[in-house]
Amino acid sequence: MMLCGNTLAVYRGRFAPSPTGLLHFGSLVAAVGSYLDAKSNHGEWLVRIDDLDPPRVVPGASKEILSTLDSLGMEWDGEVVYQSQRNDIYQEALASLNKLGLIYPCACTRKKIIDSGMMGMSGPIYPGTCRNNRSVHAKLSAWRIETKSDPIVFQDLLSGSICQRLNREVGDFVLQRADGVYAYQLAVVVDDAEQNITHVVRGADLQDSTPRQIYLQQLLGYPVLTYMHLPLVTNHAGEKLSKQTQATPIDLSNALAQLIAALGFLGQEPPVDLSNSDIPSFWQWAIENWRLEKIPCQI
Ligand code: GLU
Repeated sequence: MMLCGNTLAVYRGRFAPSPTGLLHFGSLVAAVGSYLDAKSNHGEWLVRIDDLDPPRVVPGASKEILSTLDSLGMEWDGEVVYQSQRNDIYQEALASLNKLGLIYPCACTRKKIIDSGMMGMSGPIYPGTCRNNRSVHAKLSAWRIETKSDPIVFQDLLSGSICQRLNREVGDFVLQRADGVYAYQLAVVVDDAEQNITHVVRGADLQDSTPRQIYLQQLLGYPVLTYMHLPLVTNHAGEKLSKQTQATPIDLSNALAQLIAALGFLGQEPPVDLSNSDIPSFWQWAIENWRLEKIPCQI
């Protein structure tokens, strides 16, 4: 339990879209799942814009995403936080990890890593080439963190126990790129802790990232969070819906139908007459009837 303002919050969730395009059905499912889980637990729901990587940000997308959430009747608590404005706190966290002696500069190119390493679940496993190489010039390099062989285990609310040995399955991973951009893995951990998030509900594509995030939480002395990874929406080719796979933006001319479809995807069986109702009635039914055991386990 933690103190938030004057109230005791036992549940603080969030939705953290990347403004690399408009909200599509896949991101809507993550938004609806995180919103319903928070609201059905009488919790708070925050929105954070993951706009860390300037070249990938589509101008105007953040504003559009927020206005879509608003049109869908999804009210967030507090101010929207933008990662692009938080480099100072990411820098502090990196400095704390540096004091622990666990990070090091790395000048290896992607090609070199692919050629020398093995493929892991999230790309090539870094073979540790620069770990003990003191000649690497810190200014022009990425910063990596040393990983360990101890298993990192967490209980996903849908998939159950997940275990990863970071050194074997992922390798030392990047916390800051050579161009100075902080890595998602560092920023998300710092933000979730700084915003007192207690529950993370997001797409299953990020499940493999969770042990890396728990490792950083442990090193930085942050609380470990509760995680639930939702089934992923895929296209006909079995690919995750995303800007890269040309996912179409949510059609707001029938917002209620989109919400009902997202709820149906999450296995919640909304009654047929809900489609003749309105957005407030939709949310009332969906919050009262949110059942984790109905969500299909797809992983
Ligand atoms: N920004 C990430 C995405 O849009 C989600 C990050 C998270 O929920 O941790 O896929």
